[in-house]
Amino acid sequence: MNTACVTCQFDGDTAVITMNKPPVNGLGFELRDGIARALDQANADAAVKAIVLTGTAKAFSGGADVTEFGKPNQLREPNLRVLIALLENSPKPVVAAIAGVCLGGGLELAMGAHFRVALADASLGLPEVKLGLLPGAGGTQRLPRLIGVEAALNIIVSGNPVAALRFKGTPLIDAIIDGDLLTGAVAFARQVVAEGRPLRRVRDLQLGDPQAEAFLQFARKTVAASSPNFPAPLKCVEAIAHVISKPFDEGLRLEREAFVALMGSPESRALRYVFAAERAAAKLPDLPADTRLRTIAKVGVIGAGTMGGGITMNFLNAGLSVTLLETKQEALDKGLATIRRNYENSMKKGKLTPAQVEQRMALVTPTLDFGGFADADLVIEAVFENMAVKQQVFEALDAVCKPGAILASNTSYLDIDRIAAFTRRPADVLGLHFFSPANVMRLLEVVRGAATAPAVLATCMALARQIKKVAVVSGVCDGFIGNRMLARYGAAASGLINAGALPQQVDAALQQFGMAMGPFRMGDLAGLDIGWATRQRKAAEAGVAMNPVVADKLCEAGRFGQKTGAGWYRYEAGNRSPLPDPVTETLIAQYRSEKGITPRAIGAAEVVERCIYALVNEGARILAEGIAARASDIDLVYLNGYGFPLHRGGPMLYADTVGLPNVVRSLHAIAAEPGADASWQPAPLLVKLAEAGQTFN
Ligand code: NAD
Repeated sequence: MNTACVTCQFDGDTAVITMNKPPVNGLGFELRDGIARALDQANADAAVKAIVLTGTAKAFSGGADVTEFGKPNQLREPNLRVLIALLENSPKPVVAAIAGVCLGGGLELAMGAHFRVALADASLGLPEVKLGLLPGAGGTQRLPRLIGVEAALNIIVSGNPVAALRFKGTPLIDAIIDGDLLTGAVAFARQVVAEGRPLRRVRDLQLGDPQAEAFLQFARKTVAASSPNFPAPLKCVEAIAHVISKPFDEGLRLEREAFVALMGSPESRALRYVFAAERAAAKLPDLPADTRLRTIAKVGVIGAGTMGGGITMNFLNAGLSVTLLETKQEALDKGLATIRRNYENSMKKGKLTPAQVEQRMALVTPTLDFGGFADADLVIEAVFENMAVKQQVFEALDAVCKPGAILASNTSYLDIDRIAAFTRRPADVLGLHFFSPANVMRLLEVVRGAATAPAVLATCMALARQIKKVAVVSGVCDGFIGNRMLARYGAAASGLINAGALPQQVDAALQQFGMAMGPFRMGDLAGLDIGWATRQRKAAEAGVAMNPVVADKLCEAGRFGQKTGAGWYRYEAGNRSPLPDPVTETLIAQYRSEKGITPRAIGAAEVVERCIYALVNEGARILAEGIAARASDIDLVYLNGYGFPLHRGGPMLYADTVGLPNVVRSLHAIAAEPGADASWQPAPLLVKLAEAGQTFN
């Protein structure tokens, strides 16, 4: 019996059932059905004494077939639980032979076999928790019976894979095979038959672990505390607890119930959405299929300040050499010392060995001379945010860089097309916008200029993967995706202060919503002087008098944030905790009285509504203008660059969840208030989707 993805062959008295459905033997209907038929055939054949179930070198099975989610085939019989029961109840011994990945449903399937053998480096795990779920085909009931409650819980709650070698000597892995897996597995199966070993059904194993109950008590507390916004980890613990207190079938039923409940939870929806969003963001539909990537082996970075140092570390970590340029030796030394200090801190935490620190530092070549970039494949500038300085730098690069070198700017706001025009090769220019701290934050906005060549864009997207960033393509506009939206968010937060709220109330409401940090704490951290200087410059450029906002009054009083010991909050020496400050309250009160504003009471719900809907509204404009290709790209920007809570899936998914008509109604109401800024008018795309009963996603 052979199907397109399952073959059943005979090696003497052993039937070998092989799964072969690229890329990773996802357990779709076709594969499940093929295994069930092959199993029937092997059991019906009197000559067969034992059965080996195996996959490919790359994968025993990576788990459920994600392309089947939500489609009729997902539940079509035999479903995974039925198939596992068929294996477990087979009257002839079944040996799972495991190489490559054996994850999720794949591991659950393997645990349905009576015995398991594996290559030492096969990767075993139950990653469902990472999608806000728990293993739904017996994983929580079988794994503890094989390796004990504590080890099983660590695997199920972390979702992280573990090498098969770690389980040598436990009933999870009966033998590690050296050499050819199949030869070893067939030999093992023959030995089982020769010794007349009883069939070991995992469901019948007794948990001999007197400490299990105490451990579970401890786990409930720590797991609940460490993942307050996600229900799945605690549900995993509860499901594992059934192993002790309930018969197997009852445990299986309760596991299934919890799985179905989690599948419908907003948190799991958000995590599954983000999983798909990251894959979608990497796809650039309008790039020609034959786009050839350029080779990036040597990188140049200009500016060894806050950003340049962090950007450099990304490449050193990936084993690429970096030439780092500054204007003065002193600045160069300081930048290098900061990089070394960061690595040494990682070393103290045990994350790097002393040798690794030296290896990485050896990859940097410091220079004061643009000639050092002659053989660079990519140069990223992170100099002052000033067009005249950018012009100097790009003209210098144009003069020294080899043809085909990619020239990138880390600018936060400036026009990439103008920057590209400083060179004679605008097709090789783009924005690579990192986030601070650049060696830590996962987001990279890849800013595509009007002239940027497809190969340049594709090369940088691939490079982003290599340095482990989540790359999102943005078009050119003031602030690109993230900072352009942030401007509206900041304006909404300031508006609340003017109207009657205090910074600590606004921050608390947004942090309660889940933002990593409220906007005023964030402002104090980044420095209020930057915005102040920008507003002064813009007023001067427009030839109008400055109309100071509260933040300007703070700056006029020398309060630039943490770096001056006070901003929206005050700070005690050597302590970064923000303390509410009566001085700020007085400045705010003065501002209100100058403007004739009578403060009103503002609740947490209103704070969240205004600030988050301001993001959504600007996001809708960005989408309509094609600055972002998908709503999910915008969400990735906010999740990975701006501390938006993962369990809500990003501002655009949040808006979908709240219901777009509700968002539009609130925006209309705010826009109708006396003196409201025109930006509160709901974006046409938002209105259109709401009226059509559609969502962003
Ligand atoms: P920074 O002031 O910390 O560092 C700038 C460095 O560039 C300084 O060390 C300076 O000596 C050097 N420099 C200036 N002109 C130079 C030249 N002509 N040649 C070589 N070196 C020169 O600034 P930063 O915060 O690292 O910002 C750099 C760029 O990154 C700006 O465009 C900024 O908008 C952008 N950016 C900053 C952040 C952030 O959070 N700080 C985030 C994203 C992007």
